[in-house]
Amino acid sequence: MSFALLDRLRRNVSVRLSLWFTLLFAAGTAAVVLLVYYLVAQELQRKEIEVIQSRAQQYAALYQASGPAELKRRAAQENDPADDKAFFVSLISPFEVVDYQLVPRDWGGFSLAGRVQRFWRQSDLTRIPKDAQRDLTIVRVQLPDSAVLLVGRSTSNRDALWQPFRRTVLPAGLAALFLSLCGGAFFAHRAMRPVRQIVSTARAIIQTGRLDARVPARPSDDELGELVRLFNTMLDKNQSLIRAMRESLDNVAHDLRTPLTRLRGTAELALRDAAGADATREALADCVEESERVLRILNALMDVTEAEAGMMKLDRQRVDLGALLRDVIELYEYVAEEKKITVHAELPERCEANVDANRLRPVFANLLDNAIKYTPEGGRVAISARVEDGRALVVFRDNGMGIPHEEQEKIWTRLYRGDKSRSQRGLGLGLSLVKAIVEAHQGRVTVQSGAGEGAEFTVSLPVEPA
Ligand code: ADP
Repeated sequence: MSFALLDRLRRNVSVRLSLWFTLLFAAGTAAVVLLVYYLVAQELQRKEIEVIQSRAQQYAALYQASGPAELKRRAAQENDPADDKAFFVSLISPFEVVDYQLVPRDWGGFSLAGRVQRFWRQSDLTRIPKDAQRDLTIVRVQLPDSAVLLVGRSTSNRDALWQPFRRTVLPAGLAALFLSLCGGAFFAHRAMRPVRQIVSTARAIIQTGRLDARVPARPSDDELGELVRLFNTMLDKNQSLIRAMRESLDNVAHDLRTPLTRLRGTAELALRDAAGADATREALADCVEESERVLRILNALMDVTEAEAGMMKLDRQRVDLGALLRDVIELYEYVAEEKKITVHAELPERCEANVDANRLRPVFANLLDNAIKYTPEGGRVAISARVEDGRALVVFRDNGMGIPHEEQEKIWTRLYRGDKSRSQRGLGLGLSLVKAIVEAHQGRVTVQSGAGEGAEFTVSLPVEPA
């Protein structure tokens, strides 16, 4: 296996998940098997010791009731040394001399001689390892006349008990481990499919620049399904944002190109030798006018950016909104007259609010400008203002072309222009500026309209901001 492949496997989450899964499974299984083995071995050894102890008690009772001769006779009668289940029986006199000893043949010439002292001093239970399979287990009973009775038997040791476990548990465990590794890898691979799809979609977008690539939708409503849905929604949003930005850039470029071309043309004309002093003066005046226009566009863009970023500084003062509106209406008197549009104002004596008049003037101007612009000749625009529940409400109503429902959310976006409005002059910045400034005043601006039904824009401002 090459190093690169190993490295890829190492970085593969499915492989890592299934390895972790298998490792945990193996550790869990090993812990359970060891526990079971320990409990079973414990229980078996307890049983074996119980049998030896009960036989030792029997012989001790016989010794007390019928004396050592009877004990020796019974021991010899009951235990055939050839039988590997036979008991080891030993009687040690009060003088620590081995008085009687019956040793089963499979104890392999085990002799107490020389060990008596040790057994004597040791506890009531002694276990001497015999070989790989067996232990010699000896129980000591202290007799009333200070003699000692030792009864023993060969018992299975832990290794012998482990054998059957090893024979069955190990192969079964390995098979289960292999199955769990395969199963784990399969399920982990399946579970990670949406993540792989997300990665390949993101890679496709980065490499080809195709913004319409999407992750195939999943029917499930689990976390990964949610992740796929959110990822696709994010891509949708990014795509429309990038499209809007491209359109915006095109619009700005287009809108700047016209005044700049005119400006250059006029300047070139003025530079011609033949141009007289008057013509040069006129050309310079035109240049100033065009650069004003360019500056207006750039300032509007910067104002919107500033207000949307929440960085617009307001110089709030008690302002009579009626007076402010009258000023603005006066400014548009000539434009409205040219289009034969009547502007009807219903303004109360006093309608005051704590606002920045210089910031609000372009708000009202934009709304009135739009109302006149998007209303055909002979139309009507009505402006009203009133104070209601601590809020100043200013309403601009026209009976022009109106705004279709599907466009009403978009009109507030920077550089957005309605489909039917393209024939009119404009940059698509007016309403985004209106919204940004009104919101900087902690106010709200809303629209009510329908295609062909005219439009009604309402600006609602707190009289005393919090
Ligand atoms: P612009 O007027 O330069 O296009 P605005 O941001 O002022 O940009 O307006 C955005 C869009 O909202 C307009 O293009 C137009 O489609 C629509 N709109 C705004 N005001 C009105 C109105 N009074 N009547 C109909 N449509 C309007």
